[in-house]
Amino acid sequence: MDPIASVSSMETIVSLARRRGFVFPSSEIYGGLGSCYDYGPLGVELKRNVKDAWWRSMVQLREDIVGLDASIIMHPRVWEASGHVNCFHDELVECTFCKQRARIDHVDQIEENCKAQKKSKCVWGEPRQFNLMFKTHLGPMEDSANAVYLRPETAQGIFVNFNNVLDSTRVKLPFGIAQQGKSFRNEITTRRFTFRMAEFEQMEMEYFVKPGEDEKWFTYWRNARLEWFKDLGVSKERLRHRDHAADELAHYSKACTDVEYFFPFGWSEIEGIASRSDYDLKQHAEHSKKELIYRDQVSNEKVVPYVIEPALGTDRAILTFLVDAYCEEELDGNSRVVLKLHPRLAPYKAAIFPLLRKEGHPEKAQEITKIIKERYNCFYDESGNIGRRYRRQDEIGTPCCITIDHQTMEDDTVTTRNRDTLEQKRVKVSELFSELGEVLGF
Ligand code: ATP
Repeated sequence: MDPIASVSSMETIVSLARRRGFVFPSSEIYGGLGSCYDYGPLGVELKRNVKDAWWRSMVQLREDIVGLDASIIMHPRVWEASGHVNCFHDELVECTFCKQRARIDHVDQIEENCKAQKKSKCVWGEPRQFNLMFKTHLGPMEDSANAVYLRPETAQGIFVNFNNVLDSTRVKLPFGIAQQGKSFRNEITTRRFTFRMAEFEQMEMEYFVKPGEDEKWFTYWRNARLEWFKDLGVSKERLRHRDHAADELAHYSKACTDVEYFFPFGWSEIEGIASRSDYDLKQHAEHSKKELIYRDQVSNEKVVPYVIEPALGTDRAILTFLVDAYCEEELDGNSRVVLKLHPRLAPYKAAIFPLLRKEGHPEKAQEITKIIKERYNCFYDESGNIGRRYRRQDEIGTPCCITIDHQTMEDDTVTTRNRDTLEQKRVKVSELFSELGEVLGF
């Protein structure tokens, strides 16, 4: 099947996400709040797994990257130094008839949609500058001296801790500092579900390198970040790089690439990889009047490292995994919905079913559930016929179902059923962990 043509619609994903408890509109009983969403019982498990997969690959499996968890509210001068106070603007336009507001770079898309839906053309007014940062006050006085911002990106927390990390660890160039956490942007366009949110999470890493080695490392991270999505099962046909043209780059930026995914609304950025030169460290050094340099321990030479920044939105990654995993298949004349999530990301790794609600099946199934829970998140379900129970687990991406039946009571074996191959096997309870290890691949 053509992976591009077969991408599911957003309505399908939004409906599944809500029905099965992945994502809910925020404060829904009050009518919801534009561009704010809540992760439900399954969504929160998926989100944890996505963040863990990133942390494992970016920090724990490497020798050259350390982690950080900086505060969301920082000194307001951080945002002066980074340029966000003066430059973090979108241009906002408003239609003089329907009053619809849009980012100026989204106008073409809106006009195309209006044309497709045979709606009348918008007449856009003059563009106005709109700062995306949320401003608030720290302390009881609401005056400008107490004004602070909710961070619009996690990266600056890394730059301002550059010296602290150097002084408290033994990192040597090239090295990275990684961080995951909430960011806030007062976005003008509030469409496309969790693709664009006012409150979202980012997973960013600043990789500091010797000047002159930046091109090599940019190429490395450009490739590594796309591979990460492939390794977690995302269809390669729906992933691509989009290299920024020279006129799209900021004056300090040497190169920038987006990793894009083919969503139901077309190719869109999920991650940016930027080669930012020594701009950020130099800006903070100038504004804070503190030296932000790396001193080579052998040559004693001082350098201001260059930086490569892979910046990923956690929520966009989750949306990518959900859209990509969604499949509708024919099975024995019936259609089944299956989320073919990578086992690492699946909210539950296994589901355990007693065939009957009597004859000791539930007790035995509970006993097995307790053992499996020690290692893997799993779900016990005794309601409905087995076929229905399989469907419910397929729809939420559970890789393995385990059924306890009459034979279990005689010889301590169970039936396992693989979500993707549908293969069923008779397995000894004592060998369940090795069977699960094989199905899950870890
Ligand atoms: P866009 O052009 O879509 O507004 P951006 O280029 O401003 O995104 P960056 O500042 O590079 O985004 O942020 C890095 C990543 O953070 C993005 O690739 C995206 O995954 C995520 N991100 C940025 N803004 C949002 C948002 N409003 N909601 C959800 N994720 C976001």
